[in-house]
Amino acid sequence: MESFAADLATMIRRPLAPEHVQAMRKVGQIVRFGAGETVQETGGESALFHYVLEGELEAVDPVTNSRLGNATLGPGQFFGDLQFLSGGVSLAGARALVPSELLCVPRDKMLKLMSDIPEMSDIVVTVLAARRRRAVEQSDGGLTLIGSEISRDVREVGSFAARNRIPYREVDVGSTEARRMAEVCGLAEGAAGVVFGGRFKIDPPTLQSVAQALGLDLAVGGEETFDVLIVGGGPAGVAAAVYAGAEGLSALVLEDLAIGGQAGTSSRIENYMGFPTGISGGDLVGRGEVQALKFGTRFAMPRRVSALTQCSEKYFHAALADGRNVSAKALVVATGVQYRKLPLEGLERLEGAGVYYAATEFEARWCKDAEVAVIGGGNSAGQAAMFMARTARHVHILVRRDGLSDTMSDYLLQRLQSHPKITIHTRTEIAALHGDTQLESVIISDHASGQEWTLKTRALFVMAGAAPNTDWLSGLIALDDKGFVVTGSDAGGRTPYETSCPGVFAVGDVRAGSVKRVASAVGEGSVVMSAVWDHVKG
Ligand SMILES: Cc1cc2nc3c(=O)[nH]c(=O)nc-3n(C[C@H](O)[C@H](O)[C@H](O)COP(=O)(O)OP(=O)(O)OC[C@H]3O[C@@H](n4cnc5c(N)ncnc54)[C@H](O)[C@@H]3O)c2cc1C
Repeated sequence: MESFAADLATMIRRPLAPEHVQAMRKVGQIVRFGAGETVQETGGESALFHYVLEGELEAVDPVTNSRLGNATLGPGQFFGDLQFLSGGVSLAGARALVPSELLCVPRDKMLKLMSDIPEMSDIVVTVLAARRRRAVEQSDGGLTLIGSEISRDVREVGSFAARNRIPYREVDVGSTEARRMAEVCGLAEGAAGVVFGGRFKIDPPTLQSVAQALGLDLAVGGEETFDVLIVGGGPAGVAAAVYAGAEGLSALVLEDLAIGGQAGTSSRIENYMGFPTGISGGDLVGRGEVQALKFGTRFAMPRRVSALTQCSEKYFHAALADGRNVSAKALVVATGVQYRKLPLEGLERLEGAGVYYAATEFEARWCKDAEVAVIGGGNSAGQAAMFMARTARHVHILVRRDGLSDTMSDYLLQRLQSHPKITIHTRTEIAALHGDTQLESVIISDHASGQEWTLKTRALFVMAGAAPNTDWLSGLIALDDKGFVVTGSDAGGRTPYETSCPGVFAVGDVRAGSVKRVASAVGEGSVVMSAVWDHVKG
């Protein structure tokens, strides 16, 4: 299966060419560092691109303050991580091992060079992405989650980090390491928490504070007016982000939770052209994010848009949940769909504590050797069941219908039917949830027999009844009777993806009549940009 980036251990490294270094010399500055001197602070702004002219650097593990990994960087190599592209803080530090001479290029100047010289950009982006892949796979740097086994907040941070490809590691609350870190960071002993680097406690351990600490939420909401605001960072929004950047539009993507959207919860997408051995949705969309960042598009998360106002034909305000406003000349609605909440008592209490809406590696760890239930008859439910069956003792698919042949792809249905650890229960639904702080069992109504039975399970995946995320459109845009956004001539739009409001476009699953697939979402997000460009520049 394809991955997010190349493998740092085996990739063939290409150094920057002399003409690239020459171009950097014109806009950068030569800085000398003594042995042991800090070049980049962990958690400091990634404001400079550091290219080694002479000497040797080592990456610094933010937790131990010792060398990160085995490699050091010598002449012709550069320091940095993907945070340099996104404008976040540096997840690891760098220190000179011996007296060293570096060429330091300010971030905005380096991004401009990268956009002007594609070959240079390829070399830099390939290494930065590969470093991130290794950091995620080896849990290097980034966040330390203490006590995810006892804290739902910490688990939520873990899920956010996993879905946004932020490196993190977990330590049990009772471990010696947790006690040591608690002492250094001022965490109460035995308490769960999130630490960035070795010393910095993120308090409270919420997604917002984590995003702030890492610089993922960007300081949006100032005077700046973007050409286009893209709301939603699923395949449709990220494809729009790539094209917006490539077309030279100033663009911002606002994402409520994680870049990847629904696709980010799919462990394996097999029907997306160009990936014959499959790719996880998170890796696919993550690649798009890097591509868009390279073109200068910015991403902010978690940033939920809660309302929309139109001030003039070329001026929209999107109100964020924290009360700030972001302004743009055009807006792309790419907010997709989400699964409806089941009308069951205790549901909210058990969300994240046994009731899940995504089936990723992170959730899978809580289901090892357990009985698991999946509600839903579509491809997403089928894929979740296949994925969980790798580690769970048994997976029960619960559907209200008589069968799955009308709602699920044939290849997937056949795999489910022949899987020894999966049972499909047709004409069933959940009648009740049991568990106080953690789901313990569910009561299942069997409509065929009229009986109820109990399934002892600590994981229920809800993947049914997708509803469009359109509440935030504030009545400004025409919706169909199910709440999907109407576009094109049906809405009085001038082009196929324009909504009833000129300058507002909709793409992907949120759009009425769209095919609910990754490829169509990517296609719509890509082609919409030419109409956006005409609106903004016309
Ligand atoms: C488990 C699973 C497996 C799947 N497998 C496949 C497959 O194999 N092949 C295939 O073709 N399709 C598959 N799909 C379907 C595919 O993922 C979707 O069709 C696709 O993701 C739709 O993309 P989108 O960008 O339109 O919307 P989404 O992916 O839904 O993304 C919308 C994004 O908008 C964000 N958002 C929502 N409201 C707001 C707001 N107010 N402010 C800011 N952000 C907001 C959401 O957090 C989300 O990230 C699968 C879906 C699931 C759930």
